Amino acid sequence: MALIVHKYGGTSMGSTERIRNVARRVAKWHKAGHQMVVVPSAMSGETNRLLGLAKELAPAKPGKAHGRELDMLASTGEQASSALLAIALQAEGMDAVSYAGWQGPIKTNDAYTKARIESIDDARVRADLEAGKVVIVTGFQGIDGDGNITTLGRGGSDTSAVAVAAALKAAECLIYTDVDGVYTTDPRVVPEARRLLRVSFEEMLEMASMGSKVLQIRSVEFAGKYQVPLRVLSSFTPWDIDLAEEAASGTLITFEEDEQMEQAVVSGIAFNRDEAKVSVLGVPDKPGIAAQILGAVADANIEVDVIIQNLSKDGKTDFSFTVHRNDYQKTLDLLKAQVVPALGAADVVGDNRICKVSIVGIGMRSHVGVASRMFRCLSNEGINIQMISTSEIKTSVVIDEKYMELAVRALHREFDLDRTADTISA
Ligand code: ASP
Ligand code: MG
Repeated sequence: MALIVHKYGGTSMGSTERIRNVARRVAKWHKAGHQMVVVPSAMSGETNRLLGLAKELAPAKPGKAHGRELDMLASTGEQASSALLAIALQAEGMDAVSYAGWQGPIKTNDAYTKARIESIDDARVRADLEAGKVVIVTGFQGIDGDGNITTLGRGGSDTSAVAVAAALKAAECLIYTDVDGVYTTDPRVVPEARRLLRVSFEEMLEMASMGSKVLQIRSVEFAGKYQVPLRVLSSFTPWDIDLAEEAASGTLITFEEDEQMEQAVVSGIAFNRDEAKVSVLGVPDKPGIAAQILGAVADANIEVDVIIQNLSKDGKTDFSFTVHRNDYQKTLDLLKAQVVPALGAADVVGDNRICKVSIVGIGMRSHVGVASRMFRCLSNEGINIQMISTSEIKTSVVIDEKYMELAVRALHREFDLDRTADTISA
């Protein structure tokens, strides 16, 4: 018998019929002897619907007072789905109870619409579990120090589930979703992409931060910090499939770097079309320029990703970096207005038709030459690399957006991802 947390996404909770299926699946696990805690998302489309209503009334986004009401509003989506799931479980003859985040309570800071969990009081949940109940805890929300309802940012139910699992020291947190696991890359780009049986938490973090939107990135950070074993699996299997089979399906996000995992040098190819490149040309090369350029950008709340400073020539250098595509124009304007005159730089140029392609794998730690193999593969395809950044388990390149799919496919082949031992076919 183990304590297990299930998380169901909006699609899985999308209709009363689907909620009934979730209830039956959870009942199956409970009847197999497990203590069950379930964290549901709102029914699909509900959060958008609610926030859309708010937008009709107040299209602009004022400060804290408005944020507070948005959270008061959006949190009801998960309250409704949680209560419906409890009702469905009761209809299946189960003893079930649901709690909103504030009833635990799940305490958060007061950053409305993107609050962070600070602590979870699990006493109530534990008592119910001891009494044999299935406990449902709303995803996506908590309560701040002043008793106001908060929400955790879009996709935040993943983080709720992992946090609840961490607080309860659950044996595993199963994230039921509309994909059946984590893939070597997006199967829409590479049809040969394969589902990974396991992926390390560190690799998952890199992939989640690079646009593999299977999990909210904060949930992966949380799982890493508190060592919560996570599994991503499909909610579209029949609810009555064999429990052992279900428990071993999907992708396990793990902490142990076992032998099998070390075999693959590269575990996945991530890509991201959301970036744009900006270069400040002819900057006098002296101490403090990076701080001055990036300081101005940071002050405008713009996040910077890949950064390059060139070798200087005649005391001048070029300085390039990438930002989110939505911030592209704002960054250009800001550099032209503030930074160029202050630094005496020559010009600012940019390109918003770039993309970032990355190879990710903990195997890269112990294998040399992985990055050069990547560069050679791209050069064989005639793809020019504009920028490079590396970490211990990742190498990213910035290239022209029109070569993105070609690059991803070529790299997927180069690193044998269509036939690695630790994956199974899609
Ligand atoms: N319902 C919220 C959203 O749509 C939270 C979640 O589903 O994880 O973002
Ligand atoms: Mg989600």
